[in-house]
Amino acid sequence: MRGGTLRWTHIHALALTALALGEPAVAADAPPVIPPEMRRTAEALVDKAFVGTRASEWVRGLVDTAGSRLSGSPGDKLAIEWGVATLKRLGFANVRAEKLMAPHWVRGVETGEVVAPYPHKLFLTALGGSVPTPESGLDAEILEVANLEELDAKKPEDVRGKIVFINKRMQRTLDGTGYGKAADVRHRGASRAAKQGAIGVIIRSIGTDSNRTPHTGGMRYLDGIPKIPAAAVSNPDADLLERLGKEGKPVRVRFTLGCRDKGEAETANVIGEVPGRGSPKEIIVLGCHRDAWELGTGAEDDAAGCGIVIEAARLIAGLGSRPRRTIRVVLYANEENGLAGGRKYAADHAAELPLHAAALEADLGSGRPIGFSWNAGPSSIPLMKEISSLLEPLGASALTPDGLGGADISPLVLSGVPLFSVRQEASRYFDLHHTPNDTFDKIDIPSLDKMTAAVAAFAYVAASMKEPFEKIPAEKRKLPEF
Ligand SMILES: [Zn+2]
Repeated sequence: MRGGTLRWTHIHALALTALALGEPAVAADAPPVIPPEMRRTAEALVDKAFVGTRASEWVRGLVDTAGSRLSGSPGDKLAIEWGVATLKRLGFANVRAEKLMAPHWVRGVETGEVVAPYPHKLFLTALGGSVPTPESGLDAEILEVANLEELDAKKPEDVRGKIVFINKRMQRTLDGTGYGKAADVRHRGASRAAKQGAIGVIIRSIGTDSNRTPHTGGMRYLDGIPKIPAAAVSNPDADLLERLGKEGKPVRVRFTLGCRDKGEAETANVIGEVPGRGSPKEIIVLGCHRDAWELGTGAEDDAAGCGIVIEAARLIAGLGSRPRRTIRVVLYANEENGLAGGRKYAADHAAELPLHAAALEADLGSGRPIGFSWNAGPSSIPLMKEISSLLEPLGASALTPDGLGGADISPLVLSGVPLFSVRQEASRYFDLHHTPNDTFDKIDIPSLDKMTAAVAAFAYVAASMKEPFEKIPAEKRKLPEF
């Protein structure tokens, strides 16, 4: 499908990318970094985007077989069984479940209401990891703050005995980056409020919709500070609290959470491989997370990512000749409430991390690719530019440096493993993220196929190039905060 004309387009794109980066353009007669035959194979993988892939079959399999699958739940065990059986059935090698222990938290009864100045029902849900309220619930006046900084600036006597309402609104953006800017209130709001003497915390849902479906998500308590119950109200309910607050009368809220911390439970990372034919000990990790918040069925978060990486590896396994390095698909456990899967993988595989040539994670739903994020040593720039031109037909040619690939693979940064991700269109993803609405019907199959093709083309090149990517430079080997 790609003749000489398109090849010229590629060279043109290379020159433009180089100019945009303020670097000398690649000379027209410079030999390509990716050998022509390898490039043709990668282009054939890119073309799979337009004829369709089987990625949605694997998404549907995980969603319908395991459904709700938070760590330690019955669905979590079913998802492990599904992962092992599916990877074996598709012909992956060395299929196994690598066991680990992860937090086990369960949701319970959840009720909420405005008591004064006027009675209203509140749609709310516990943040994952929250302690329960007393059985009779918490009942107190709310103190509204816009963000954590405003909360920190309050006098303790103004906060003591109150339920803090953190009213920080997530902005809708094309690439979903509004999420990271808003999620601090969910992660850290409870301990920051408790430090000032609050008895509970309610946050505006971290989501971009206006449905009465509150968004759950992980939070954590700091040591040495009382643990107070933490919930998210739906966006329309947060709007109501905001309007009532503007009336100037005290707003009193009552809520009940029956959630329970059940300690730890056994779970597992599920792994399968496409063995390399030349240097099988060198590894390209393609990751996603198998677990999901139990309000919904985790179709977008992150069965979509699992469908993408399983199908990308399957497409590569079906090529006439396999690449040099091993492609290892890792369906991580416990991304949502602990990251125990990502941490355990890095610890268990520490001895072979120097042989990890690249890691990529898919964890932003089924939106179409819009770019490519990379983090490797500077000598990888010429190769990255060619990968960028390869992904141009998918709309994913824009390169973003210094990404961390994804939460589960982020611990690998400490070993300098080059980290990658395909950036995705995610303007609607956070309408349903971590809500009951995250269901299979939301999967955008043509976009999922484009993502699959982008991941397959990248993974094939990463696994085939004679010289691997340069490791992440020592000064950039820092763990992110999630
Ligand atoms: Zn996720």
